[in-house]
Amino acid sequence: MAKKLTRETARAIYQRLAEANPAPDTELHYKSVYTLLVAVVLSAQATDEGVNKATKTLFPVANTPQKMVALGETKLGGYIKTIGLWRNKAKNVIALSEKLIAEHGGKVPNDRAALEALPGVGRKTANVVMNVAFGAPTIAVDTHIFRIGNRTGLAPGKTPLDVERGLEKITPPAFLHGAHHWLILHGRYICKARKPECWRCVIADLCAFKDKTPAPNADGLAQPSVKKTSAKKKTARKLSAAPKLRAASKPKSKSKSKKKVSV
Ligand code: SF4
Repeated sequence: MAKKLTRETARAIYQRLAEANPAPDTELHYKSVYTLLVAVVLSAQATDEGVNKATKTLFPVANTPQKMVALGETKLGGYIKTIGLWRNKAKNVIALSEKLIAEHGGKVPNDRAALEALPGVGRKTANVVMNVAFGAPTIAVDTHIFRIGNRTGLAPGKTPLDVERGLEKITPPAFLHGAHHWLILHGRYICKARKPECWRCVIADLCAFKDKTPAPNADGLAQPSVKKTSAKKKTARKLSAAPKLRAASKPKSKSKSKKKVSV
């Protein structure tokens, strides 16, 4: 576990991440608070990309709790069976839709406790919905944020709740709302689980992780591919757009950093 960073360093980290990505957002596709909730429930232990593929055909036929209940668990399963744990998720989506109709007039409540009382909705899912849909300064600690909190020294902790509490304490108020997205995107595209790409990381000089990955040129690692221009790759490039550090590490690609791809 890395040594805990100071508040000043934490502020500098968020400033860098904010400069690289001024308007961070979820990569899940949704059209309403209800479809956001369903997408987040489906995304547990699954990729946003996989969820978006499934909801692309699901949401046109079921974008309200009433339509979802009318669709039914079996047909819903047909739309989401490419997603891990889909049987359980189908059951939960139908049950939470029924509960929304019965107890909340078919609307998603702007209340953490009420959200967590819905089937299939835990603290992490409630935090995402509170943040994205209702603008709350919540941080949903998933595998990426848990790793970054510990690796960088931003918020070392043994459990996701420890890391969440640590991040809430050390994150300057101005960055609290965006923190969830900045950290998750940083973990997804730069500070990867197996081999963090420290050589192109905008916060490399601030991060307390000791075993930083050297630049590919220095140790013979393969250069990352920059041929494709998928949304994921554009986001990854943008997140690593730190002029000073890029100059220092000299990645081969001369592609310019682009504005964030809208979700
Ligand atoms: S320097 Fe490396 S370990 Fe630290 S945040 Fe960046 S990618 Fe992660």
